[in-house]
Amino acid sequence: MNCPSCNQSASSFLRNTFSRQGVSITQSAKGYLKCQHCGTLLRITGFGKQFWYFFTGTFIVLAAFALLYRRLMEAAGTGATAAIWIVIVLAVMLAVTFGLWKNAKVEKVDEGAKS
Ligand SMILES: [Zn+2]
Repeated sequence: MNCPSCNQSASSFLRNTFSRQGVSITQSAKGYLKCQHCGTLLRITGFGKQFWYFFTGTFIVLAAFALLYRRLMEAAGTGATAAIWIVIVLAVMLAVTFGLWKNAKVEKVDEGAKS
């Protein structure tokens, strides 16, 4: 996502994932963040179409795994299946976070007018 004010990347993936990005927890939960370059207060207004394609794809992978679960249990054993499941869940969480960050659309917030 690019900052509409300075036209640079408003936040890095790591900053997006592991920090509150210069705003309070409440503001962060409402989709506010501050640009890492110019400090402009921004708000996430939505997500690009690509994100929803991506989200659907991820869901299909999870559904496929759920369907194959029993067969995998018999073939690979409980421990290996659990390990694969954990890896898939972590990968999905990371991928969704990445997709949200990559495809977020932001707009400039007038600090005086924020609710
Ligand atoms: Zn900026």
